[in-house]
Amino acid sequence: MTAQAGEQGDPTTGAAVSLERQRLQFASDNAAGICPESWAALERAKSGFAPAYGEDAWTQRACELLREVFEIDCEVFFVFNGTAANSLSLAALCESYHSIICHQTAHLETDECGGPEFFSNGTKVLLAAGERGKVDLADVRNTVLRRTDIHYPKPRVLSITQATELGTVYDKSELDAVAETARQLGLRLHMDGARFANAVATLDVAPKELTWKVGVDVLCFGGTKNGMAVGDAVVFFDRELAQDFAYRCKQAGQLASKMRFIAAPWVALLENGGWLQHAKHANACAQRLESGLRDVPGVEILAPAQANSVFAKLPSPVLDGLRERGWVFYTFIGAGGARFMCSWDTSDQDISALLGDVRALAGC
Ligand SMILES: *Cc1c(COP(=O)(O)O)cnc(C)c1O
Repeated sequence: MTAQAGEQGDPTTGAAVSLERQRLQFASDNAAGICPESWAALERAKSGFAPAYGEDAWTQRACELLREVFEIDCEVFFVFNGTAANSLSLAALCESYHSIICHQTAHLETDECGGPEFFSNGTKVLLAAGERGKVDLADVRNTVLRRTDIHYPKPRVLSITQATELGTVYDKSELDAVAETARQLGLRLHMDGARFANAVATLDVAPKELTWKVGVDVLCFGGTKNGMAVGDAVVFFDRELAQDFAYRCKQAGQLASKMRFIAAPWVALLENGGWLQHAKHANACAQRLESGLRDVPGVEILAPAQANSVFAKLPSPVLDGLRERGWVFYTFIGAGGARFMCSWDTSDQDISALLGDVRALAGC
């Protein structure tokens, strides 16, 4: 780490905030700890010997449970994080001369340090515009069709994020329209589901209705932000695309030798529906925070909170005051404004404390 011990630069302002004073409850869902079910599963898995590299019973069970959740015989792989899940799954869909179309604010474009391009040996990422984190389908069409000559990278994949980077969710009819466009354009459909659980919790439909039944070929299903310590799943609904994927994971350093410790928390959260409970809780927290912020004069909500984050414009003195009081939040994500992200571990007291500070600083 480059930060000094005990101090960390505020990523937004560069101002030093002492670590002890940081209040990270709304910084990100990956600032949260490990949920009790995941911890208990690690405890159960920790002793004794088990086959390595995913040949263990926990991993087999986690794969089975994912097949039950999606109600289909999908191919499942576990990797350490979402960047690897996105990069490797996209590389599996593409040749180096292909292109991937995604939203301007897509994590794979803005926050993966060129990982998808690197692991695909140069597949180009092309950007589409769109309101509130969702791809504008006319722009996708234009991006694909404006050139058909040999000098343009051949469009191959449309990638969408569900829930989006702006805390919105594609509903069923929007997904149908996305998938229909992909079909018409001959594109594969990739879904970055780092917060897929939050989207399912919002829409309250069977996961299959938001994935393979619509035409999603591969889903990167986030576990980390849902309450686990580490580990995201790559779920191939088109099993042919998963051919040799295990080699990609291994080569990229993403094949965990003690795989049971990634898989056990998945078993725990899938078996008792905890993955959805955590997502519902985080979403409800965002709802509560959003309605509290709406009542503060001078605050503007930038996108409806449909998942677990709230994007809002606050007067600068309020933002500065919040930072002074130790609150950590980002203002460089999406279309500007401050992002307040809730997690499985956000409490009512956290929300009241933040709202109380916002109100005090706004003078109401
Ligand atoms: C967090 C996140 C990821 C994964 O990020 P890692 O830091 O690599 O785990 C992927 N996509 C989205 C939209 C995310 O928010």
